[in-house]
Amino acid sequence: MSKALISIDYTVDFVADDGKLTAGKPAQAIESALVNATRQAFEAGDYIFFAIDRHDVDDKFHPESKLFPPHNLTGTSGRNLYGTLAPLYQEIKDDSKVFWMDKRHYSAFSGTDLDVRLRERGVKTLVLTGVLTEICVLHTAIDAYNLGYEIEVVAGAVASLTPETHQFALNHMASVLGAKIIEN
Ligand code: ZN
Repeated sequence: MSKALISIDYTVDFVADDGKLTAGKPAQAIESALVNATRQAFEAGDYIFFAIDRHDVDDKFHPESKLFPPHNLTGTSGRNLYGTLAPLYQEIKDDSKVFWMDKRHYSAFSGTDLDVRLRERGVKTLVLTGVLTEICVLHTAIDAYNLGYEIEVVAGAVASLTPETHQFALNHMASVLGAKIIEN
């Protein structure tokens, strides 16, 4: 059965010390686990979808403009993948199973054709990685649940600002969305 790994927002602005909306050290700590999970999925022949936040400068119509400082702005280095995920993406990006999607809101399904692409390929199970556990990862999981996908979350490849919010989201995805939490 086809699987797809969804790589969510592991970018400079969300991860680096000087990122515009960074989760900082907890996000940096998952780098090797996230990169390993991505490489393993690729080598296993799974689809890989990079779902990456994109915002425009001074977008008064965007709800996040009232909630967060500007981040992941179009054309800035803040949207670059962080750390060793960047060279891995360069290595695999031309493969027909690897996709890049600019997303509009928290969920990887918002403003993207992710659902259509997954259905075309008969993908039933989504493996979630990235940041933040209780925001973009959780919102992606909720949409995936509503659309009927099986959900797996690589616990060591998602991160949040605090252990409490991270654990809340993992518990919620497991107990309410039926997600399988993979411990590595
Ligand atoms: Zn955003």
